[in-house]
Amino acid sequence: MLIQAPIAPIAFPYPTPPDPGTVRQVAPGVLWARFALPFRLNHVNVYLIEDHDGWVAVDTGIALDDTREAWNALLEGPLRGQGLTAIVATHYHPDHVGLVGWLTERFGIPLHMPRNEFLTCLAIQHRAFAANRPFYKEHGLPDDATERVTTGGHGYLRLVTGLPTQFQQLSMGGSLSIGGRRFEVLTGGGHAPEQAMLYCADDNIFFSADQVLTRISPNISVQAMEPEADPLGEYLNSLANLREVIPHDAVVLPGHHMPFTGLHARVGELAAHHAERCALIAEACRIEPRTATDLVPTVFARVMDPHQMGFAFSEVVAHVNYMRNRGELVQFRDTDGVLRMRAA
Ligand SMILES: [Zn+2]
Repeated sequence: MLIQAPIAPIAFPYPTPPDPGTVRQVAPGVLWARFALPFRLNHVNVYLIEDHDGWVAVDTGIALDDTREAWNALLEGPLRGQGLTAIVATHYHPDHVGLVGWLTERFGIPLHMPRNEFLTCLAIQHRAFAANRPFYKEHGLPDDATERVTTGGHGYLRLVTGLPTQFQQLSMGGSLSIGGRRFEVLTGGGHAPEQAMLYCADDNIFFSADQVLTRISPNISVQAMEPEADPLGEYLNSLANLREVIPHDAVVLPGHHMPFTGLHARVGELAAHHAERCALIAEACRIEPRTATDLVPTVFARVMDPHQMGFAFSEVVAHVNYMRNRGELVQFRDTDGVLRMRAA
């Protein structure tokens, strides 16, 4: 009989986050800072890794004046006026990539970023979001929520300072040398097309970006540009990979909320969370065929405003596409022209 080793529970080695303008050391030469966000998720973590003559920033915060001021306070204070030597941008979301343009220009430093994340950020500047309306319509999304999601791209552009003209690719299996230390690069899909994560074996620290968070499950969405995408399948594959390659006792440094240990336990919880949502969808579609929009209240209990509805809808489509790929749901175009799912 196989006896499975118990999985270490989730624990938080640091009782409180750093105050604005201050840092907390989370490993020798690795500092944790926090920047405010004007959303319900009200902060983002940025990490600074000591390099030979300055600091490498992992992510940047959002492009708002408050964040710029917070950066200035950090640079003059805890970073000892040393400046940045490079930026690692984990993924294209504005809370992570927002000040990349500003910081790379200010310090004349390189940007390290996965190619798909760099190109996605560029593509958003050229995407005609309004052209996506038919996708939402055929999935039964109401007009007000459709309006929100098809104009959301302009909000993104206000929250980022652009990208430098050149970048250095971060890719799965690669590595970065920072201040004489080696950081292995991992990437994973699901939350973003090719989100970068870093693991340093010497210190047993894992920068998980938004791929593994503790208090929330990272948003996994199908975008209208790629309606048949299976980001949930990609995400679950990535979680399985992390469980294989990152030691269970690594200190995880996530993009939001507190650093933690117990990565394998958290990966198990996230996978179970998605399995639960799939079970709810399967049950609802066994009773009668449903649109993706019908399935939103099946999965999300609380009532949604159009903004939240847009996010929730895109998450539901991610579960639906995953289940279709697995042969658990069948999608068909109904007599009213709308797409409905039934249990296979
Ligand atoms: Zn993100």
